[in-house]
Amino acid sequence: MRTLVIATNNAHKLSEIRAMVGDRLHIISLDELGCHDDIPETADTLEGNALQKARYIYDRYHCDVFADDTGLEVRALGGRPGVHTARYAFPDRHDPEANNAKLLAELQDKADRHAQFRTAIALILDGKEYLFEGKVEGDIVTALRGSEGFGYDPIFAPTEGEGKTFAELGVEVKNRISHRARAVAALSDFLLRQPC
Ligand code: IMP
Repeated sequence: MRTLVIATNNAHKLSEIRAMVGDRLHIISLDELGCHDDIPETADTLEGNALQKARYIYDRYHCDVFADDTGLEVRALGGRPGVHTARYAFPDRHDPEANNAKLLAELQDKADRHAQFRTAIALILDGKEYLFEGKVEGDIVTALRGSEGFGYDPIFAPTEGEGKTFAELGVEVKNRISHRARAVAALSDFLLRQPC
């Protein structure tokens, strides 16, 4: 089985991704690698941030590594919050409740509520760089609904979800159709085609 480092210590993300790849890949976190650095994410695109994180680990540890970056792109806001999704309400901290409140307020009188989650994954394998993408389209609902998941899950209803938000659909459904699931599927399809 191929071993890959994922450039994150986010326990939620790690367990989501491990559940998606099952026993096809052995995924090691930064903690397990012994890296406790705060890795910079200063690019102005999702792809740029994903590459920045993967390169940071590759340059120090010379191992096969991948990193992801996700953004919520809202059509009526010209694609915002996009690369600023994590720190939308406050530039210096991640406050999911405030992020949701800010987005709901900005869309209050907007008829167009279309949005997409987009995940970029950067992989460095044997020193070569590759990019993968996953998207899910949907709408921003008008009030918080549901209790599962994290981040913007209570206000994002995927088109396949029959009106329910990710937080109402639950983790099992979400892991089948989400932006991250699709990006991880593209990554693992690619890896499984590589010679060991
Ligand atoms: P990251 O690049 O995966 O850290 O994601 C950036 C931000 O996007 C997170 O801090 C969350 O606010 C939001 N986000 C990412 N993935 C999801 C998701 O699956 N559901 C809801 N919000 C998400």
